[in-house]
Amino acid sequence: MEYKLTSKAYYEALKQDKLLGLKCKACGAITVPPAMACRGCAGTETDIVEVKGDGKIRTFTTVFVAAEGRESEVPYIVALVELDEGPWLMGNLAGIDPKTASMELIGKKVKMGHRVFTGDKFSAGEGASPLFSPAN
Ligand SMILES: [Zn+2]
Repeated sequence: MEYKLTSKAYYEALKQDKLLGLKCKACGAITVPPAMACRGCAGTETDIVEVKGDGKIRTFTTVFVAAEGRESEVPYIVALVELDEGPWLMGNLAGIDPKTASMELIGKKVKMGHRVFTGDKFSAGEGASPLFSPAN
């Protein structure tokens, strides 16, 4: 079976602040990040669509202990965001002081951008990840 939307294409689009997902032809659910099967019905007939990336924080955690090679990045917040289109997407959260982050963040509306990180010994090179910030 061939991948409709490869990870490489997904991350290249993310570097241009474009969030790509797969819309299921059977049930209409949108799957982000890309997967072989629809998150709603496990169907495999999908179309590539652009997702806005707006949503609300469902949960988060503050990271104080970094993975090796990323010590300069702590502390930072990782949030799980429910996108307006349905899928839940994990990403870093900017614009909030990690030291004062509280449960009041849950439900807060955010918009998505991206961050590029350089490769380390655990990755295959430079990558991109969603970077959420509070929406006004
Ligand atoms: Zn489906």
